[in-house]
Amino acid sequence: MPPLLLTVPEIRLGEEFDCSCGRVHRVATRQILFGDSLDELLDLVVGEVEPRGPVVVVTGPKTRAIAGETVKVHFSKHGFDPIVFEAEKADLATVSGLERVASGCVLAVAVGGGTVIDVCKYAAHRLGIPFISIPTTISHDGISSPVASILIGSRRTSLMATPPQRVVITAPLISRSPQRLIASGCADILAKSTSLRDWILGHLVKDEYFCKTTFDLTATALLEIRRFIDAGGGDISLLASAAVRCGLAMALVESSRPCSGAEHLFSHYIDMVGEGVGLHGEQVGLGAILMAARYEDFDSPPQQGFELTFQELRGYLTRVGAPTRIEDIKVSEEVAVKALLECKNLRPERYTILHHAPLTPPGAYNLLRKTGMAEEL
Ligand SMILES: [Zn+2]
Ligand SMILES: [Zn+2]
Repeated sequence: MPPLLLTVPEIRLGEEFDCSCGRVHRVATRQILFGDSLDELLDLVVGEVEPRGPVVVVTGPKTRAIAGETVKVHFSKHGFDPIVFEAEKADLATVSGLERVASGCVLAVAVGGGTVIDVCKYAAHRLGIPFISIPTTISHDGISSPVASILIGSRRTSLMATPPQRVVITAPLISRSPQRLIASGCADILAKSTSLRDWILGHLVKDEYFCKTTFDLTATALLEIRRFIDAGGGDISLLASAAVRCGLAMALVESSRPCSGAEHLFSHYIDMVGEGVGLHGEQVGLGAILMAARYEDFDSPPQQGFELTFQELRGYLTRVGAPTRIEDIKVSEEVAVKALLECKNLRPERYTILHHAPLTPPGAYNLLRKTGMAEEL
């Protein structure tokens, strides 16, 4: 299969354009490539990158052998002077270490999973240099987004940064990555069902800014991930396209708003207390089941057709092998209840179903029972 340039007809990559929402949007991402051969994709991309100079290739201990060295060789071949930096943790110390190594570089290239991309994205943003995203898995929607998830102390924090200049997705690398990571990526995208509902709610109740182009982009990602799971998970281009659309949506409005509602606050609370073993997408998937059920309890805005019921969300998560119960990720009922009650305080300005219809302690317990998230005592 020849490399396919993923295009998104609704938006103009790398250029300013007037949008029906009244704003002028500009996405820094210029090119999104998807194909079967990393060598072929790199030949297409690296020759076009200007100016030549020192470049830092950020990779992980495992991904270095899988793809990092290949990327380094291609940049050398095209007249760049590559140095390799291994990132094992997405924390501020690693970001600072990378900034020191990369000062003087004209470009940063991330070759790896979520940690590598987050570190590279944030360091490149701070250095004011472009970065290229070469994911080796898709465990969340960060491969093309402007948001970097960085540990500050023990707290995982979402920081706005600059989206990648180019995204290079090699199908076999993603297909061969661990199923748990793929399932987590699917869960993060399925959860857009509730994040989009929260955005509409904020727009209707709080007169919050809303962009239909961005909304449609994210709703299409939700449809694509459903098709991916419905078809048995064989067509990696659907997962890649869905993740890219979510990242572009956030880049368009320069905010995580279209892709992050109460289900993400639920996950951020669990991160904050440091309980359990859940990946970002796994926690968000559980949050989405709970929030979908909460929407059903309540007199919510008219449905638009993209929304999934909590049973449908649970069905999709089950089929892709993602957790559907809090005990699956070793989160106690006590912490889940606290998260449901308190997570809205982490971000009071982001209106969600939990701000609109706050839970009481008995209500939170009932929600866990109703969704099959925890057993009857
Ligand atoms: Zn717009
Ligand atoms: Zn997410």
